[in-house]
Amino acid sequence: MRNKRGQELKKIRDEIWHLKNSPLYKYRKKNNYYPVIGEGNHSAKIIFIGEAPGKNEAETGKPFCGPAGGILDELLESVNIKRKDVYITNIVKDRPPGNRDPNPKEIKTYSPFLTRQLEIIKPKIIATLGRFSMEFIMKLYGLEDKLQKISLLHGQIFETNASWGKIKIIPFYHPAVVLYNANQITSLKNGFQALKKGE
Ligand code: URA
Repeated sequence: MRNKRGQELKKIRDEIWHLKNSPLYKYRKKNNYYPVIGEGNHSAKIIFIGEAPGKNEAETGKPFCGPAGGILDELLESVNIKRKDVYITNIVKDRPPGNRDPNPKEIKTYSPFLTRQLEIIKPKIIATLGRFSMEFIMKLYGLEDKLQKISLLHGQIFETNASWGKIKIIPFYHPAVVLYNANQITSLKNGFQALKKGE
């Protein structure tokens, strides 16, 4: 028997699995892709939220398992956080064609599932990866007036309230930036130190 959180998360998985009204459903089916719901500890203290699955993720159903995932693993290791202890998901749960950015309609379709995942897992720290999850999460938790360019917010800690208590939101650059500019690993590793301060 799954515990209650596991059951509630499975219900989300089942709903997304059959989400025929999603703008990405046909593309998923045509390519035999999987939706990527999320993975990790259902009682995680820290949740990481990326953008949308890439090709590797859509082929396996696992978040951050391709090249950007390799960078995320390196970043987690640099702050001594084990992947099995955190929860990792995305704002959009299906792969947009050709790795393009998610569009507003896709974000609108999938973000209510993310909100439910957060309410089930009740993390103390929400770490956003990239500007799409940063914008959505900061607006969701009343920090709209603090929104600025991601380069100004990367690694900053914002304290706010969620329905389950006090939380910290920490925006980060998306790990994939390192794939385009290897020097960015330093800035990401420096930013990730905030996860230690935020504990
Ligand atoms: N990029 C993301 O934002 N999410 C993934 O799961 C993989 C790559």
